[in-house]
Amino acid sequence: MVSLGERCSPSGRAGDLAALSELDEAALLSGLRERFLSQDIYTDIGDILIAVNPFQPLPLYGREVSERYQSLQTDSLPPHIFAVAGRAYHAMLGRRGGGPRNQCILVSGESGAGKTESAKLLLQQIMNLCKGNSQLEQQILQVNPLLEAFGNAQTVMNDNSSRFGKYIQLRFQKNIVRGAKLSEYLLEKSRVVQQDAGERNFHIFYYMFAGLSSEEKEIYGLLDPSLYRYVSGQFGTQNVAQRWKDKYQEVCNALDMVGFQEQEQVDMQTILAGVLSLGNVTFDPEESNGPVKVSEASKGWLKAAAGQFGVQEDELLKCLVCTMSVTRGEQIQRFHTQQQAEDARDSIAKMVYGRVFGWIVRKINELLAENVDPEVELREIGILDIFGFENFPVNRFEQLCINLANEQLQHFFNHHIFQMEQAAYKEEGLPWETITFNNNEPILNLLLAKPLGLLSLLDEQSAFPQATDKTFVDKLNSSFKGNLHFQPARGHVLGFSITHYAGKVQYDARGFLEKNRDTLPGNVRGLFISSVTPLLSVLFTATVSRTGTLMPHMKAKIIPGADDKFNSTRKQSVGAQFRHSLMVLMERLYSANPHFVRCVKPNSQKEPGVVDNQMVLLQLQYNGLLETIRIRRDGFSWRPFFEEFAERYAILLVKPGVSLTKESCLEILQSTELKGWICGKSRLFFKYWHQEQLAKCVERLERAA
Ligand code: ATP
Ligand code: MG
Repeated sequence: MVSLGERCSPSGRAGDLAALSELDEAALLSGLRERFLSQDIYTDIGDILIAVNPFQPLPLYGREVSERYQSLQTDSLPPHIFAVAGRAYHAMLGRRGGGPRNQCILVSGESGAGKTESAKLLLQQIMNLCKGNSQLEQQILQVNPLLEAFGNAQTVMNDNSSRFGKYIQLRFQKNIVRGAKLSEYLLEKSRVVQQDAGERNFHIFYYMFAGLSSEEKEIYGLLDPSLYRYVSGQFGTQNVAQRWKDKYQEVCNALDMVGFQEQEQVDMQTILAGVLSLGNVTFDPEESNGPVKVSEASKGWLKAAAGQFGVQEDELLKCLVCTMSVTRGEQIQRFHTQQQAEDARDSIAKMVYGRVFGWIVRKINELLAENVDPEVELREIGILDIFGFENFPVNRFEQLCINLANEQLQHFFNHHIFQMEQAAYKEEGLPWETITFNNNEPILNLLLAKPLGLLSLLDEQSAFPQATDKTFVDKLNSSFKGNLHFQPARGHVLGFSITHYAGKVQYDARGFLEKNRDTLPGNVRGLFISSVTPLLSVLFTATVSRTGTLMPHMKAKIIPGADDKFNSTRKQSVGAQFRHSLMVLMERLYSANPHFVRCVKPNSQKEPGVVDNQMVLLQLQYNGLLETIRIRRDGFSWRPFFEEFAERYAILLVKPGVSLTKESCLEILQSTELKGWICGKSRLFFKYWHQEQLAKCVERLERAA
């Protein structure tokens, strides 16, 4: 045994930076950099994996490599994303000590850092570990291409940027996968109607134009892509067109394999074509005392959209040019201005797209749901691929939600890595100099406190018809006066800044109330429910939430009463729904054993072999990786209780009737050559590499027997 003051022997693993003797940012950076330049993109910090995006295909994921990483002991192998998959899988089955347990893998990093690619590799390797080739496994693997087609888009940061967050839960009965469940977070619907310079709409639109035959386009009523306002960007080169065509085929195959019906696929594409036609409807400036008129040149588009949506043209027109409301039993019609008509058009388009996406997720969940006896105990591995921290020249409501999610995840990381570990030392009476870390609880409070947190204030304002973005900002300024993490905007800018764990972000408050309310223009729902296209009518019935996406908490039974609350007719704001779905997610994460993959983007030009030191350093700081190295090197990440340990490793004493006591534990440990562990009052403290060493001892013994 050693005292805490003594330096414990490092894991001895190549590529483990917890073994660094010098421990500062420069050493960490140069360690990562050196490895990266020799194409070792993976580096461990103890049991946390850092993955630096190579921006080029590397021969790292072939069959032979996959097989090598399937064994229970991978400590002699270089760090790899497959090793994380293995650790999660074996731990779920209880093969790594501590009994079978749910696992979660959190993949984080900024846009373009490689989260989605890592998540795909994890899924692929876990499916390989199951060693099956069942239809279900193949279906699960098709979920990614499907989601990416509808939820990813080219941005300035990443040619295949995920515009939504996802958590996929793989459910196992023993070692066999029985089902999967998907939760999605905050699809960026605004992209349907508007994209910034150098960006595109969701991939699926481009795939359809490239992949559909002329006859099919005629059926769907699709004309030349250059005619549509909602799809921007070059349709350009033959190469790109061929790639999109192939992608379209891939999506069709995935839809078939996952189990979407032919008619559903046709309906879905007709609806998407309708969204594009709708986008081309424009309006003449309003005249006094009358509704705005659809411009002469775009009347054909209105007709096309109505046809594609399966609704009456004049009914669709009504939704665009006026709002109907009922006051004291009397129907009141209010005419729109030109701007309001354009807004109505865009919000219908966003709503429809959002609901198509939500429906796809719901369908996937129905088709991949486990079909087992409720008595059967299932364990799960969840993989979280969620948008990283964002700080753009202009930050809106969406960025606030995304950054809130990141605050929550950072808090979870801190809790797991620092607080839990240190609390255990204290409880067990071990001397331990507390590692200071950036505790972001005050920021979470600023955002989430009830009734005076930012989201609550936003909801309060959203409920007042007279409130505006300005009154909202005034409210924030008065409520958060003197708060260290909040700064009012300077001058006449309508906004505010928040000092997040990862830096200060300036938010533009324009549109906050509108986006939070996300109201469906009055008569739109009725219009679509009456559609002759069955799918469209389904999309607007009550099963899908009003924001257009099936919120993940709809089926979750974790929080008592959550469903009841949701089913009530009172409409929840976007902020409230997001807060709730995050809460459900966090409950799941807190109840599982976590694994962390931190993705790092080496440069912003997406170039292979280039490391921008400043950029990498900033990401290491955001992630709190330096403190992490220290706690992983000096700390004890595996802390089993005596009973738990003795029960699992009694086998090493090769005698019957080992009692589950501290004495037995010590006897067991003395029979091994393990060094650097500590004995507390009720539990043992081990380094992260001890688990594998013990597993090796067991294996040696079993082989000998
Ligand atoms: P976003 O937040 O925008 O969705 P992301 O973190 O999910 O970004 P990815 O889409 O996973 O980023 O990665 C961006 C691109 O980087 C990929 O399209 C791919 O070209 C490249 N890339 C990422 N990881 C790898 C890898 N392991 N090997 C080769 N290329 C990779
Ligand atoms: Mg992604």
